[in-house]
Amino acid sequence: MLACRIHAKEDLRIEPTADPEIGPGQVLIRLGAGGICGSDIHYYFEGKNGSFVIREPLIPGQEASGVVAKVGPGVTRVKPGDKIAVSPSQACGQCDYCREGREQLCRNMRFLGSASLYPHVQGMFCEYFVLAERQCYPVGGDVSLGELAFAEPLAVGLHAVNRAGDLLGKSVLVTGAGTIGCLTAIAAQLAGATSVTVSDVLDRPLAKAREVGATRTIRADQEPQALAAPQFDVAFEASGSFAALKACVAAAKRGGTVVQVGTLPHEPLPFVVNDIMVKELDFKGAFRWGIEFDWAVAYLSSQRVDVSPLLSGQFPLQDAVKAFELAKDKTQSTKVQLVAA
Ligand SMILES: [Zn+2]
Repeated sequence: MLACRIHAKEDLRIEPTADPEIGPGQVLIRLGAGGICGSDIHYYFEGKNGSFVIREPLIPGQEASGVVAKVGPGVTRVKPGDKIAVSPSQACGQCDYCREGREQLCRNMRFLGSASLYPHVQGMFCEYFVLAERQCYPVGGDVSLGELAFAEPLAVGLHAVNRAGDLLGKSVLVTGAGTIGCLTAIAAQLAGATSVTVSDVLDRPLAKAREVGATRTIRADQEPQALAAPQFDVAFEASGSFAALKACVAAAKRGGTVVQVGTLPHEPLPFVVNDIMVKELDFKGAFRWGIEFDWAVAYLSSQRVDVSPLLSGQFPLQDAVKAFELAKDKTQSTKVQLVAA
C-alpha cells in the first residue's frame, strides 16, 4: 500500500509500505477521504507545527473517513464494508480529565498525525490504517465519504460553540472564514444565534461563509471600523491572527464572551487584558473536542448540516504535493482532500 510521508520541510514522498496488521479490538480501514488541515500544511511547508518539529518521517492526516476493510477479534461496533467517520483522538480514558468528560485535555493524548510525541503518532494519509474500534463511527444514509471527513473540523466548531454557552438569541462574530470559521458559523446557527457575522481579509472565504449561512460578512482589512464598536454578544477567533483577536475583544459587548479557536503564532503577544477587565469579558479557549465529535457525525450523516460548499477539491494520494499547494492557497480553496487511488 501507499503512504504519504513528510520527511522534512517541503519533502513529501509517496512511499510503498507494508500492509498494517490488526489485533484484537482493532479495525483495518481503507481511506475514504482525508482533509488537509492547518497543522498538515504547517508540517509540510515548515517541517513543524508550532513547537512540534518533525524528527522522523510523519504520515500527516487527522480528518478522515473510510470504509472498514477487516476487523480484529472482539470487534462488534463495525463490520467490513461499513462507511465510517474516524476519530483521530486516542485519549487514554483513564486520567482525571478523561474521567471528567474532557478527553481533549487528556494527560496521555496520542492524537493522530502529530509530531507532539516521539516516536510521532502517524496519521491517516495512507491507503490503509489501523485504529481502535472506539475511533470508528459507522454511518448509513447518503452522506459521501468526502462530507463525512468533515466530522473532525465540524466537531471543533461545535466544541467552540459549546464552550461559549447558550447562543439562543445572541449575536455572534466569527473572525476567519476558513474551514474552522465557516464550521463555527454553522454551529452557531444550529445553536440558535440570531445573527452570525463573519470577517476575513480575502473575498473567496467570505463568499463561502455566506454560502453556509452567515448573515453578514466583513472585509476586516478594508472596513476595520465595522468591527471597532462593541456590538456582538459572543465572538469566536478562528483566524489565528492577533489583529483578529483584538477585533473580537473590541467588537464584543460589555459582559460578552470571546472564544479562542484559532492557533496564534508562537511568539510573545501584547495582550488586551485591560479591555477584558473593564468589559468583564469571558475569555475562553476551545481546544479540539470531546463528545462534539459524536454530534458532528450525527449532523453530517443526517445531512442536517451541508458542508459541501467548503469542499474545494479531491486528489489521489499520489498527487499529495499538488493537493497541499492548493490547500495552502486560500484565494483558491477552503478544504482540499486526499482520497485513496
Ligand atoms: Zn486521559
